[in-house]
Amino acid sequence: MSPTVPPLAAKLGGLKSSAIRDLLKLTARAEVISLAGGLPDAELMPRERIAAAAEAALNGPGCLQYTESPGWAPLRDVLAERESARLGRRVPIDEVFVTHGSQQALSLLAEVLLDPGALVVVEDPAYVGALQVFRAAGARIVAVPLDGEGMRVDVLRDLLARGERPAVVHTVSNFHNPGGVTMSTARRRELAELAAAQGFWVIEDDPYGELWFDRPAPEPVATYSPNVIRLSSASKILSPSLRVGWMVAPDAVCRAVELLKQGADLCGSALTQQIAADLLADRDWLTTHVDHVRGVYGERAKALVHAVRTGFGDRVVCTDAAGGMFVWADFTDGTDTRQLLPRALEAGVAYVPGAAFAVENGYRNSMRMCFTTSEAAVLEEAVARLAAAHAG
Ligand code: PMP
Repeated sequence: MSPTVPPLAAKLGGLKSSAIRDLLKLTARAEVISLAGGLPDAELMPRERIAAAAEAALNGPGCLQYTESPGWAPLRDVLAERESARLGRRVPIDEVFVTHGSQQALSLLAEVLLDPGALVVVEDPAYVGALQVFRAAGARIVAVPLDGEGMRVDVLRDLLARGERPAVVHTVSNFHNPGGVTMSTARRRELAELAAAQGFWVIEDDPYGELWFDRPAPEPVATYSPNVIRLSSASKILSPSLRVGWMVAPDAVCRAVELLKQGADLCGSALTQQIAADLLADRDWLTTHVDHVRGVYGERAKALVHAVRTGFGDRVVCTDAAGGMFVWADFTDGTDTRQLLPRALEAGVAYVPGAAFAVENGYRNSMRMCFTTSEAAVLEEAVARLAAAHAG
């Protein structure tokens, strides 16, 4: 008798493996220049400083033990101080919660804030990791497009006027993944006002805010309303392997997240939290380090944008890359980026087609390019290969 295979939860019905992860398997060939990944450059991660902090932690108490579910208290102190400076108000430690990367904050918040079928508004194109979380939570997802000023808050306003009542609006306010754009201050204020007036949560997902090139990112959306939960992370400025992210949220949200965190993994790693606290508290060192990362990424971003603009002229429109890790580009000549991809791979270059991030608008003529892990000359070669594939 063949065994009856038990089912998975029905709410997982719509879950797909990330198209990007599937694509990364194809781009692993050494001869392919990959603009497809979304990884920070490992060469820029502060290996020696992390080793020194690890040694100091191992010589002290507590780092091999379980730690508090909301995070190791001295790290939360450092983060509270950092976030107080960013938000222009005193952030109490009870409103700071450390998570296993900001991805875990998204996942725990989905459980805390969403009932099955609840409406979540995301940006289009969207951060795929957020889409996965909201889909797994059984949310109904509606998308609002991005333009050069970030989320089209006027479209959100229209949705609200039609009687839609979101539980959560998710935004990547700075140097968007994948869209490359930053939300303007006017839109930030407008979004925060709508959240306060209509009583919905905004999740401001901000792992890239520190990675500005010419001028700092605008004030966080969270500056303007207590309904905004702000997520940040050490992944892009220190190392994703620390798995240290954090959120700033009202005490009631943090306490609900705490209960779920206990069930998810009891607590984060005391060792990596102690390392993160050491590095984040060392202000002079941190400033020098982050300035260096910005300088290198800024130079690479400019090289990529310049190569795309000179190589494709008016057949491609791309973002300026004022910070973060990504350039978003639209072909204006009707090129379908999914169809172009096999030829591009053959020519030795990879990117992610816009369709991988599309929610409602197909983005068939768009692509995301990551500039962090290749030097300027390599990025120029990548664009030359792409132009050859496009012409061929
Ligand atoms: N949010 C966004 C917009 C991201 O791009 C990422 C990383 N790709 C994350 C959250 C998660 O980052 P981490 O868990 O490493 O902090």
